[in-house]
Amino acid sequence: MTDPATALADIQARIARTAQIAGRKADAVTLVAVSKTHPAERITPLIAAGQRVFGENRVQEAAEKWPALREAHPDIKLHLVGQLQSNKAEDAVALFDCIHSLDRASLVSALGKAMDKAGRQVPCFVQVNIGAEEQKGGCAIADLPALLAEARSAQLPVIGLMCVPPLGIEPAPFFALLDKLATDHGLAGRSMGMSDDFETAIMLGATHVRVGSALFGARG
Ligand SMILES: *Cc1c(COP(=O)(O)O)cnc(C)c1O
Repeated sequence: MTDPATALADIQARIARTAQIAGRKADAVTLVAVSKTHPAERITPLIAAGQRVFGENRVQEAAEKWPALREAHPDIKLHLVGQLQSNKAEDAVALFDCIHSLDRASLVSALGKAMDKAGRQVPCFVQVNIGAEEQKGGCAIADLPALLAEARSAQLPVIGLMCVPPLGIEPAPFFALLDKLATDHGLAGRSMGMSDDFETAIMLGATHVRVGSALFGARG
């Protein structure tokens, strides 16, 4: 297994090089280190190497792992990259600093209430089902204007759009489409690109890349 800190240096260098080719600043791209399924001892070397933004896909797992890890490093930011059930909205608002999976009206209202109650604004990406896949989370492209309007009227801080393109197809057209949708709606953030395609995503405007296995090795 590769040492996560060595992998981190490699990913950071690839992000910087790609951003440079794209004429963008390296710090215009946030690396979200997706640590789901990996135990604390795999994560601490990355924290020691300076990584501060991490992603988890389950509220419960994050609640078990992160309070202890964050104690020594209060500047760590935790991002939720997985689907969120409305009944976990309060827990998610308490635990996460950014939510990448806002995808339906019921969740807009649950998160709005949870943020009001907590007195804490958590930036959100609206997840778009960019490949119109039946099984996949994310709001349909046709429903995006209405969902964004709902989020605005609930005063949710929506900072961008997020997608996971279909597996096994060239992802670039899907990244380009997400970039266009974000532009059309005046949103600055684009959460797109994972271990196998983050460089392509950066070329096409990604502001947040979500990288798991390239940092931590395969998930068990
Ligand atoms: C697991 C996950 C990732 C990271 O995937 P890798 O291919 O391991 O880099 C990114 N985004 C989401 C939504 C995920 O669930």
